[in-house]
Amino acid sequence: MSNFASEDALALYNVDRWGSGYFGISTDGHLLVHPKRNGEQIDLMEIVKEAHERRLHLPLVVRFHDLLRDRVQTINLAFIDAIAEMNYGGVYRGVFPIKVNQLREVVEEILDAGKPWHFGLEAGSKPELLAALSLHTDPESLVICNGYKDTSFIRNALLGRKLGKKIIMVVEKLEELAHTLRVFKDSGVEPMIGLRVRLLSKGAGKWATSGGENAKFGLSTADLVEASDMLHAAGLADALKLVHFHVGSQVPDIRTIKRAVREASRFYAKLFKMGHALGYLDVGGGLGVDYDGSRTTFDSSTNYTLNEYARDIVYSIMEVCDSEAVPHPNIVSESGRAIVAHHSVLIVEAFGSIEKNSRQAAIIATPDDPPLVSELLAIRNDLTRKHRLENLHDAQDIRERAQTMFDLGLLDLRAKARIETIYWQISESMVDMFRGLRYVPEEVKELEIALGDQLLCNFSVFQSLLDHWALGQLFPVMPIHRLNEQPDRNATLVDITCDSDGKVAKFVDLQDVKETLPLHRWKPGVPYYMGFFLAGAYQDIMGDLHNLFGRVNEMHVYLDTDEDRGYYVEEVLPGSTVGQVLSLTQWDVNELARRMKAQTDAAIKADVLKPSEGMRLLDDYEKDLTLYTYLDLDDQHRPPTPPQA
Ligand SMILES: *Cc1c(COP(=O)(O)O)cnc(C)c1O
Repeated sequence: MSNFASEDALALYNVDRWGSGYFGISTDGHLLVHPKRNGEQIDLMEIVKEAHERRLHLPLVVRFHDLLRDRVQTINLAFIDAIAEMNYGGVYRGVFPIKVNQLREVVEEILDAGKPWHFGLEAGSKPELLAALSLHTDPESLVICNGYKDTSFIRNALLGRKLGKKIIMVVEKLEELAHTLRVFKDSGVEPMIGLRVRLLSKGAGKWATSGGENAKFGLSTADLVEASDMLHAAGLADALKLVHFHVGSQVPDIRTIKRAVREASRFYAKLFKMGHALGYLDVGGGLGVDYDGSRTTFDSSTNYTLNEYARDIVYSIMEVCDSEAVPHPNIVSESGRAIVAHHSVLIVEAFGSIEKNSRQAAIIATPDDPPLVSELLAIRNDLTRKHRLENLHDAQDIRERAQTMFDLGLLDLRAKARIETIYWQISESMVDMFRGLRYVPEEVKELEIALGDQLLCNFSVFQSLLDHWALGQLFPVMPIHRLNEQPDRNATLVDITCDSDGKVAKFVDLQDVKETLPLHRWKPGVPYYMGFFLAGAYQDIMGDLHNLFGRVNEMHVYLDTDEDRGYYVEEVLPGSTVGQVLSLTQWDVNELARRMKAQTDAAIKADVLKPSEGMRLLDDYEKDLTLYTYLDLDDQHRPPTPPQA
């Protein structure tokens, strides 16, 4: 029995830091989800069991709807508390930017959870607006329209206004304002206009270019003055309702936010004084998620809390507006990432491991060994702490010489294999000798990384974790069981795409970034499940079909203490089938089957195939078109799933 307990796993994987109270570990070493950050919990291994019972294969996205609701409530309360604490004169009217997660069930849940606070929606494109219009019913809540707009976009906003909705068209460039006024002219309703200001304040982090003078969106100061004049000339000065800015997503440093809010508040106050009955200041998105739990200004972190964010915004607006003697605006924010990142977990199964030194077999000298093998063995057998680095360098030298000999045809495969195995054994001893020391030389650190296993995982980085591949964004990853056993290996994760980039080789750490993840040794026939966390924002929709791996299966769950497992499955969304992903690239499944039948018939006629065998293979082909795109590990590595209890 190891004396590694779940508390040790909590610390090892920093669960309490990045988990924000939503995740924990049971005494039997399973990962727990606490959707409401209280005693109610869901064991992820129970979900895996349930998925097997339902024959729902991994990879699987699990959405915790109560957690989503908790995020909505938490963000609203943060602003409400800050407003109350400071006797601020306006209210908070947040909106959810649909682009961050468009899944209907997610958007519906957010609107429903946000009802008490008139939480609204933000649309950045025509499809998003059409979805938002139909879902939105609360006349108090806002629909904010960002992004470039054409006539039909504006016409739909007009429809919304006619239905009594508070739809605010945020003008991204001047022509859009003229266009909007034209479409609304003689319609009998006034548009509600917002202006996106281009701030000088610029963020840090991966999305810094969303702000600053060279941003893609927003009006310059000269444009703002012209917009004001245009509105006055049209007799619509009071249609201007909102000032908007957006400094980019995942802003790591609170000072960026404060600076931008102060600058935008100044614009708000000055525009107000130019005779516009403004009522809203929209601070955009940018509220970050502390993916690594380090509470720093590192790209994948934030150096502030949600409450600090809300207080700083309320305070900064108040300070500027008071100094300008302008009434406090209602505050709008467009937090997407911070609302949806936590609510979903991706569960994948490992199905193999590539180990450098997999053959633990003791290698002993034989009389047939070429001199290089004997020399290397001698080094391995006489490793000394005192001369360890010298030993390492000698071993490296021999390995290089062996490679040269191999290139020249002077070394056979058996000898080369022995050299490599002994070399990795030496490397492992070397890493052990430096373990726990205050100073570890760079070359030994590199050795440790090189010694890491590659855990093969049944998923696609390109479908499920695109920002990791594209931007190096970090997500917490860890096993969801065996967390009461000491992990004895270090590994990177590789996916099943035929792409060397399809891997996860950077991991969250409190200091900097880790190159390998501590894991348990993978054993054939023993299921090993990994969880990818905080991936509920952006990843679902940005994922692509590289290698034609399609959307993954989904399970939507709600807490329910009346149920044995503590939850119920509200909905299952099947992932893409082979046929579905093929048809997205113009393959017609009927045509595919027809052609295969013709080839099979021909083979039967030519006596290459027996008719019964041919028909069976053809049946399988047609069935496979209806199956999941990922590996079916059930037949390979496990006895068949036991019958349902
Ligand atoms: C993307 C975007 C958001 C959402 O940003 P988060 O950082 O995810 O909260 C909000 N507003 C606008 C204008 C955006 O483009």
